[in-house]
Amino acid sequence: MIPPDHPRYRSLVTREHLAESVKNGIVSMEGLTAHGRGEAFDYFLGERTTASALIAERTAAAFLMTARHPVISVNGNAAALAARGIADLQEASGAIVEVNLFHRTEERVRRIENLLRDAGADVFSGPAERLLPLSHDRAWCRREGMFSADVVLVPLEDGDRCEALVKMGKTVLAIDLNPLSRTARAATVTVVDELTRALPNITRACRDLTGEERGRLLQSLDNHYLLSEAIREMTGRLSRALD
Ligand code: ATP
Ligand code: MG
Repeated sequence: MIPPDHPRYRSLVTREHLAESVKNGIVSMEGLTAHGRGEAFDYFLGERTTASALIAERTAAAFLMTARHPVISVNGNAAALAARGIADLQEASGAIVEVNLFHRTEERVRRIENLLRDAGADVFSGPAERLLPLSHDRAWCRREGMFSADVVLVPLEDGDRCEALVKMGKTVLAIDLNPLSRTARAATVTVVDELTRALPNITRACRDLTGEERGRLLQSLDNHYLLSEAIREMTGRLSRALD
C-alpha cells in the first residue's frame, strides 16, 4: 500500500500500475525502462507543462484538426497510462486509433485493443501487414490506417519508426520527454511533456482552437525552437538546483 501522503505518491502509484500492466500483458518489460527514462527527464522539467510545451500541444492539435487522415499510434505504455485520454482525444479530433508495437505479439495487440475499447476508444484493428520500411515489428500496420495517414500522433515513439514515417512524407507529432532522442529531433512537432499532461491539453486545443489561431500556429511552427526551449527549461532547473 502506497501512503497517499508520500511526496512521490503519484509517481509511485504510476509505477505500481505499470508493473501490474506487465503482469496483465499490456506493457512489455522493456516498457518499464522506457518509463524510467521518461521520469528522469520529467524531473528535470519540474513535472509540469512548460509554456513552450503548451505551444507544441496546441500546434499538434492544429495539425490533427486540419488533417485528411489523422492516426493516433498506441503502444503498451501509452495504453496503460492514458487509455481514457486517448479515447477523449479521438473524440475531439476524429483521428483513427491504431495499435503499433515494438515487442509485438498478436496476444498483446488484442489485449491493448480491448483496454482501449473499454476506455471508450473506437479502435481500428484487423489484419496488419509489414508495410513500413523497418526491420523490426513496428513495421506492421494497416493499409487503411497508419500507412495512409497524413498526420500521425506518436506518443513514446521509437526513433527508427519516427524517421521512417517522416521519410514517407507524413507529418509526425511526437510526445517525448527526452528532447535529445532521435524521435524528438526527427518529428515535425515535438511535445516535450508527460503523456498524461499532454493528451488533455491537445484534446482541449482540438475543441477550442479558432480557425485563425489554427492557421497562425501552423504557419509559425519552429520545432527547433520548441526543442531548444525544452532543453533551456531543463538546464535552467539543473543549474539552479543547488541555489
Ligand atoms: P529514440 O529511439 O527516439 O532515439 P530512445 O531509444 O531513448 O529514443 P525509446 O525507448 O525508443 O527511447 O522511447 C521511449 C521514449 O519515451 C523515451 O525517450 C522517454 O523519454 C519517453 N517517455 C517515456 N515515458 C513517457 C511519458 N509518460 N511521457 C512522455 N514521454 C515518455
Ligand atoms: Mg529507441
